[in-house]
Amino acid sequence: LITIKNLLVSFGNKKSKTEVLHHISFTVLQNEVLGIVGESGSGKSVTSLALMGLLPKKTSHLSGDILFENKNLAFLKETDYRKLRGNEISMIFQEPMSALNPSIKCGEQVSEMLQLHKKMSSSDAKKETLSLFEKVKLPQPKELYHRYPHQISGGQMQRVMIAMAISCKPKLLIADEPTTALDVTVQKEILQLLKELQKETGMSLIFISHDLALVSEIADRVVVMHKGIVVEEGSVFEIFKLPKQEYTKALLASRP
Ligand code: ATP
Ligand code: MG
Repeated sequence: LITIKNLLVSFGNKKSKTEVLHHISFTVLQNEVLGIVGESGSGKSVTSLALMGLLPKKTSHLSGDILFENKNLAFLKETDYRKLRGNEISMIFQEPMSALNPSIKCGEQVSEMLQLHKKMSSSDAKKETLSLFEKVKLPQPKELYHRYPHQISGGQMQRVMIAMAISCKPKLLIADEPTTALDVTVQKEILQLLKELQKETGMSLIFISHDLALVSEIADRVVVMHKGIVVEEGSVFEIFKLPKQEYTKALLASRP
């Protein structure tokens, strides 16, 4: 579905540049869950922002190829990227509050997205939002529709985010540490939900986490990152049972 080739990202200006992704390459297949693991600072989030076209234009530089359905996203114009984000790829973040508007009711935020990107009428968008809220297993969808983000729990907020992210029926969903801010039981529920949605819709899912146990539970294949490079890429079995690289072995050994 997506092939990343020699992706290089650096931050800074001409005088001082820091390279944070050093020519990384990997593939996301259709209908798979790809886990990305790596320590803090290894470049996982920068990779996902690069795929979404969300790196700061002024202070970052990107080269290499991001091939998605006959398009090279590395050269895509911002207006085209915006369309792509509303229709074919979407993302959920660690902190749901970072993507929800605190002053708009939860249901309305999703409904507005549908009106904007799918050109739905407001009554159709409301119906669709309620069915999405049911799909992500929010309790009392009708009531939650009218609550503001600060009036629901963290786990519920993440479900609203997921509803919003899948509202466009994306071909690819990127989940960057989607459960880190949640307690362990809620983590498991959200993981389960993502797994179910991925199976049901056939979308590809990139699941980013530093939690190896979570990744081994959800992923089909895994990319191991370290200091801005891809150390190893393989099936869950290959990475967790037959790791080839010393770094992967050490990472697995350091598991609590
Ligand atoms: P974590 O597990 O803590 O989320 P990560 O693997 O997601 O870590 P990144 O956020 O991708 O790590 O960061 C990789 C490197 O890029 C870090 O050294 C970080 O300081 C740097 N970096 C990220 N965003 C920027 C930015 N906007 N400007 C400058 N440097 C940045
Ligand atoms: Mg990160």
